[in-house]
Amino acid sequence: MTDLRVLSVASEVFPLVKTGGLADVAGALPAALAPLGVAVRTMMPGYPAVMSAIEQGEDLHHWKDLFGGKARLIAGTAKGLDLLALDAPHLYDRPGNPYLDATGKDWPDNALRFAALSFAAADVGRGLIAGYQPDVIHAHDWQAGLVPVYLRYGHGKKTRAPGTVVTVHNLAYQGQFPHATLEALKLPSESFTLEGVEYYGQVGFLKGALSLADRITTVSPTYAQEIQTREMGMGLDGLLRHRAQFLSGILNGIDTAVWNPAKDPLLSARYDGAKLGGRKANKAAIRERFNLAAESDGPLLTVISRLTWQKGIDLALAALPQLVAAGGQLALLGSGDAALQSELTAAAARHPGSVGIVLGYDEALSHLLQGGADAILIPSRFEPCGLTQLYGLRYGTVPIVAHTGGLADTVIDANEAALAAGVATGFQFAPVTAEALDAALERVFRCYREPSVWKSLQKNGMASDVSWQRPAEHYAALFRSIVPHRAAPQRAKVKAV
Ligand code: ADP
Repeated sequence: MTDLRVLSVASEVFPLVKTGGLADVAGALPAALAPLGVAVRTMMPGYPAVMSAIEQGEDLHHWKDLFGGKARLIAGTAKGLDLLALDAPHLYDRPGNPYLDATGKDWPDNALRFAALSFAAADVGRGLIAGYQPDVIHAHDWQAGLVPVYLRYGHGKKTRAPGTVVTVHNLAYQGQFPHATLEALKLPSESFTLEGVEYYGQVGFLKGALSLADRITTVSPTYAQEIQTREMGMGLDGLLRHRAQFLSGILNGIDTAVWNPAKDPLLSARYDGAKLGGRKANKAAIRERFNLAAESDGPLLTVISRLTWQKGIDLALAALPQLVAAGGQLALLGSGDAALQSELTAAAARHPGSVGIVLGYDEALSHLLQGGADAILIPSRFEPCGLTQLYGLRYGTVPIVAHTGGLADTVIDANEAALAAGVATGFQFAPVTAEALDAALERVFRCYREPSVWKSLQKNGMASDVSWQRPAEHYAALFRSIVPHRAAPQRAKVKAV
């Protein structure tokens, strides 16, 4: 039975609009929370892809002027989601990427575009819609970061405000805009303080959320600790330390129906934890696609990644001579940074038959790589959660990961103790340097040469629970923990300006 109503506010939601892991989380949590008695409604911008997917839409509210144009709130279902779409053509009726114009630059009015989403969500939180009062608003990333800010400083009815949870999917994206935008954002000058949105003289969307939300989560426990340090706090560590008692990490899960090696139509051959035989055909298909030799002495590693500094692709490049000399192979699928792309192309030319790359984004190929490579290498400098190691665990592709963020929380390193106890699922290395990666690769090769050890790593990984069930239980408990708080007298005093 449903006993809690949550309004999830996000700028992208899988399968409607996706550029990253945020969309996966926002898309997966509603179904995972439903059996736990938590009814999630999802509120997002009415981009063209959203407007065309809505079925049986019902107009709930009209704004004559929402940040520069007419807008309406539409309720409907789309791809199984209970959706509230903010239809504001002047803000969202644009083709392509939700954040960038055709030249790849941020839309110049992004501050207004996402402030409007938060503004409207805060209105819904205050009881804008008859018969719908959320208990909790779950705001994702800076794009929804102004929800707690509008609840605190915005105009509106003086009803009981819902509790607020903000989830940080990547602290690198903070949403900072000039002080001069404050008025256009309909925020009063008293919001421009240390307690509010002021951030080094600018308006900080995420900063405001971190200051004012009842609870803050990140997508792994280790990342929740790391962002409280100077090195990894990206300027917000002081505030995060200040709010540490309200900050926690909840790991992401994956869609175990889409990522299921026993049923995956994108594989050349399917298999399960009891019988890994199908992996051979997948490995052969990968070698053909990446122009790799049909045999090798060492393991076939894969990398599936955005090509950026964060992902440590330069470390993978530095490891190639050792990897190839030891008889290993690499199949890399990625897109991004132009300099890294050309370095990778050159590396593939230097090591024909041993290093193959495909540049671009290719969902189907990423499944094949998970279904046939021996190991997946993830040398990230920081990683809020990471998904590819979770797919790797599920598919028996042994993860080799940097000891950081969600990578540290999801892979059990094959050290002596873990091997003896039979619980290891992969390899971790630290610090995140070429030397430490080289040392880890030596361990990888040693284990690979002992087929029974390697198989146990694969099977342990495939037996680990990477579904949304446990994370959903944590979110449900967190949401419930702030509902009495919301009703407490001091929270009932919502400041209406
Ligand atoms: P991030 O969100 O920082 O890019 P994650 O590991 O959390 O990193 O998620 C990346 C997602 O994008 C995974 O689902 C991964 O399989 C996918 N991905 C990344 N690069 C590619 C690519 N070139 N082709 C196909 N899928 C990719």
